[in-house]
Amino acid sequence: MTATATAPAPAADAVRAAAHPVAEAIQSGIIPGRVWFYSNYHCNLACTYCFTESSPTVAKRAMDPEQILRLAAEAKALGYTDFGITGGEPFLLPYMVDLLKELAALGPTIVISNGTVFGARRFARATELAGHDVAIQISLDAAQPDLNDEMRGEENFNKVVDLVPRLVDAGVKVRIATTVEDGRLDAEQHNDLCALHRSWGITDDDHIVRPVIHRGRAAEGDMGTHLAFHEFPAELTFSADGAWWGPFGPSFTDGVLDTDLLITRTVEPVSTPASALLRLAEGRPQGADTQLGIR
Ligand code: SF4
Repeated sequence: MTATATAPAPAADAVRAAAHPVAEAIQSGIIPGRVWFYSNYHCNLACTYCFTESSPTVAKRAMDPEQILRLAAEAKALGYTDFGITGGEPFLLPYMVDLLKELAALGPTIVISNGTVFGARRFARATELAGHDVAIQISLDAAQPDLNDEMRGEENFNKVVDLVPRLVDAGVKVRIATTVEDGRLDAEQHNDLCALHRSWGITDDDHIVRPVIHRGRAAEGDMGTHLAFHEFPAELTFSADGAWWGPFGPSFTDGVLDTDLLITRTVEPVSTPASALLRLAEGRPQGADTQLGIR
């Protein structure tokens, strides 16, 4: 048997990915390797700083789950490595757990949730994510119920602190995301929150603190951090309306879709928006993007 015959053949995907400029840009850190999908826009909550203006009464604007999987597979072939699902509240969709399992088979996947929709049936379904490469990122803004619930609504705190340890005990990976006006917590607040998530077995690496972004409902309430285009993370993001420069892109203000971060309405083939995003990223001032740790 020759050396050629015994050497493992490179996977077709790897060959294709290595050849594509997008793959090279991800490997060299010019653009991040994660792709986001807006599964839907409706939500059981209506937080005061929500940049998608989500609420129980808004249009769902759901992406077709089959399209999400198709785009994810194409993105992987281009060199993307990780996936994210955000909304709205993704777990309001009955197929979310199945979709997450299939995405996780393509690459590490994160899903953003408010952690307040898990009655017995949804909780049981969510526990099926144990053993899959899926992390549920749950919002918790303060270690004190009144402070947390101020912007997120009544009983939010109690529901989250009831849910998170049960998910962790069931073997589901959980991250905690804290959103505060300017992205900074005072030391006491930070310590209290960290004591809480550590008590559940969630490490500091899985706790992110991020600013409110001045878009959507936050902008209407004159809250949050203003960012220029090139300061938003260059993460390729898909919604029912097109492809975007980062997960803050498809926000809504006064019921109207913001289009300042729209890359293209054409989402397929993925190489079209991915190449357009790369061209924009290469034109950015060096080191301009902010590490927001958001979604
Ligand atoms: S911030 Fe999240 S939980 Fe709150 S309304 Fe918006 S989508 Fe729902």
